[in-house]
Amino acid sequence: MELHDPPDGRDVTSRSVYFAAVPKPITQVIATHHHFDHAGGLRQFVAAGASIVVHESTKAFFDDRVFGATATVFPDDLAAHPRAASIKTVPALGTLRLDDPTNPIEVYPIASSHAADMVVAYLPKQGILFNSDLYIPLTDDLKQVGLVPYFTAKDFRDLAAGIQHHGLTPAVIVGGHGGVSPMTVFNADLAALP
Ligand SMILES: [Zn+2]
Ligand SMILES: [Zn+2]
Repeated sequence: MELHDPPDGRDVTSRSVYFAAVPKPITQVIATHHHFDHAGGLRQFVAAGASIVVHESTKAFFDDRVFGATATVFPDDLAAHPRAASIKTVPALGTLRLDDPTNPIEVYPIASSHAADMVVAYLPKQGILFNSDLYIPLTDDLKQVGLVPYFTAKDFRDLAAGIQHHGLTPAVIVGGHGGVSPMTVFNADLAALP
């Protein structure tokens, strides 16, 4: 089973939520990029033996600076039981396929100024695309009170360009922030950009 973007998992509550909420062992964790709210919980999964999926440009950063750190201020499971991380990388100019008989996942790099190591996860069978920080699926209620479904218009355009570049045809977009929007809403939001 795969998980996306675990936030900070040092505290016992969020850690137990990860491991109790899912019916199967988590074997692979995809980090869309290195920001703490998407990668802060990865050490717990290294400690639990899961493989970590990141953009190739940040493999050394995660290996040395994140998983290799000693964590003396907030000791965690990995500090107590150090182990080498199993890291799978998404090539800057290619695709990483995570084979699974029922739910294969493809991980694609997205050229974005939000983070140089940005990737998105795509479930081709279901037409589901998971992104973080580029597009934020919002309900109409939230848009009506003035929220916009992106941090910057450029982030949003970067994602739209990346989807087109890779020839993806998602039916729905899921956000690490926000919820889920059908592609029709994504396209309407894109057309409404200033
Ligand atoms: Zn970010
Ligand atoms: Zn974020």
